[in-house]
Formats: sequence, C-alpha cells, structure tokens
Amino acid sequence: MIKNDFYQYEKSMKDRPHVVLLGAGATMASIPNGDKNGKKSSVMNNFIKTLGMTSLLEQVNLQTNSDNLEDIYTELHERSDCKEIREKLDSKIREYFLELEIPDEPNIYDFILLSLRKKDLVATFNWDPLLLQAYQRVYRITRDLPDLAFLHGNVLVGYCSDHKFGGMIDDCCRECGKPFQPSRLLYPIRHKNYAEDPFTQNNWDRVRRAFKKAYLVTVFGYSAPKMDAEAIALLKEYWGEIEDRNFEDFEFIDIRLEDELINSWSDFVHTHHYSVVDNFFKSSLAHFPRRTTIELFDRTMNCRFTESKSGKQFRQNMDWQDVEKVVNNLLTEEWDNDGGILTV
Ligand SMILES: [Zn+2]
Repeated sequence: MIKNDFYQYEKSMKDRPHVVLLGAGATMASIPNGDKNGKKSSVMNNFIKTLGMTSLLEQVNLQTNSDNLEDIYTELHERSDCKEIREKLDSKIREYFLELEIPDEPNIYDFILLSLRKKDLVATFNWDPLLLQAYQRVYRITRDLPDLAFLHGNVLVGYCSDHKFGGMIDDCCRECGKPFQPSRLLYPIRHKNYAEDPFTQNNWDRVRRAFKKAYLVTVFGYSAPKMDAEAIALLKEYWGEIEDRNFEDFEFIDIRLEDELINSWSDFVHTHHYSVVDNFFKSSLAHFPRRTTIELFDRTMNCRFTESKSGKQFRQNMDWQDVEKVVNNLLTEEWDNDGGILTV
C-alpha cells in the first residue's frame, strides 16, 4: 500500500462508528445510591410491588406464580381479558420512571455521551430518562455528540406518527405542530414486534446502519436475556459473520463473570478481540474519550503503545469544571487538526 492509500485507510477506519449498547446494569451503575432524590431504579423482580400493582394483579388470577416482570407480562399479553390492567401498568411504569432524576454531579451517563462523537451511536434498552437528562446538560458543553436510539421506547421520548419526527415528550412536531405522542414502551415479552410502529422501526434502522459500519462495540450492563432473543438475532444479522469482522473489537462493562458474558455474545466476538472490565472508569470510553476508535487503530494497526493521559481522560468523582476542561482539551485538538488524522 502506498503512503497515500494507507492515509485514506487509516482515516476511514478511525472515522468508523463506536456503538454503545446500554442495558439495565448501566442505569444501576450510574445511580448506585439512588437518583437525585435517593429514589432507586428498580430491577425486574419485585417491580410490581414497587409500583403498587400487587392488589390489581390479584384481581386477574394470574397463572404464573413468579414475581418476575417478564413472566407476568408474557401472561398479561397473551390474555385478552387483561387489556385494562396492561394499560394501567403502562401508565404506572411511565409515572415511576418519569420521576427519576439524574443527580447534579457528573454522572456515568454524562461521561458516556461526552466520550463519543457525532459519528457514534448510543443505543439503549432502558425506559428510564437518565440518558436524555444527561444529553440536555452535556449539550451545553458540546454539540458534537453521538446519535441516540431507544430500542424499547423511553418515557421521555415522543414522536409524530404522521411525520416520523421524534423528540422530547413535551415538544411538538416541527412539521404539523401537534404535540408528540408518547413512544410505545416495549415490554419484556418474547415477540416485541419491532416493526409495529414507525418510531421503533426508525430507531432499529439507525442501529442497523451503525452496527454494520461499527469498528468498536461496547456493551454496558446488558445481559442479553432470553426474552430479548429477537433483539439479539437482529443485532447478529446487522453484524454479519464473525470471520468478516476480524478487525473489530468488543468491550464489555459488566459485573458478571467473563465466561458468562462471552457465552452470551459468542456469535459476535472474534477470537480474542474483546475486553471485559467491571467498571465504566476502566473502559476505553473513560480512558480515551472521543478517541476510542482512534486508539483501537493506533494500538492494533499502527502497533503503538497507547496510554491514557491525565487531562484527556475521565476519572471517578470529577466535578463539572474538571469534565469541561477535559472535553475542551479534546475539542481544541480536533479543531486544530482540521479534519486530518488524529492520534491519542
Ligand atoms: Zn407531525
């Protein structure tokens, strides 16, 4: 390869998307002591009780004895006499999550967004509003932020079905001026039918495009449960054969054991092309914010020893001033570089 060809190749690789997939574990890691008001994000077990739905559910005589939301939903969805209770549950869930508030200090959700650039994508399975609340405040630091996709709907997201515009739930469609309708929340049942409404389909289309081109994928706190077999199958279809993805890397941020994780994702991960960390601040996102794909290329293709540098990394317990300093250092470097090839 002549020098000019390699330059183009390096640039195109470094410009490829980094896709971050978020599951319930990401929200739990981001508010370990509860939200701004000490309110905990609930896990699937005991959720019904937390929502105060126990007595309502008793009226419909469920066959399942499980207190797991997935089992309960599956039965509610299969029974035509449970329409009313499903709607009630839906509004209780919206109410519950709408109350969650991101704490004032910099949060893992802020760091995730600020670690990425416009070419990247954050796709979340979570209904909670923390990612969007983070987005609204980090937007004041930079507008060069990743695209977002809500794979199971979100309590803060609304859309217009006539014009396919989406946004914050209290906004209006910029085409017809009508207030947005709430996005459908997709429940943990086996067949979620992602193509049923245009909004959900549009979100999945964005994931498809980004996943096909992705150079690096981070899976944060997502356990790929059996109820999400449909989602995993779609992601696998977008990803393609692992033999064709031998330059790409997977990164897992998870407290589960490595064997268990790799087992869930064996259809995606090419031999040793993955890493596992148990804490966001040990991930490539925190070590090399806005440079994750650049670092991957420099380390694996340019054979450079890459090192995370203070002033260009995110650490635990940073205040907003520290965070802005790091982001501004990185943005200045990007502007000075003026579209050329960056290194870490
Ligand atoms: Zn409209």
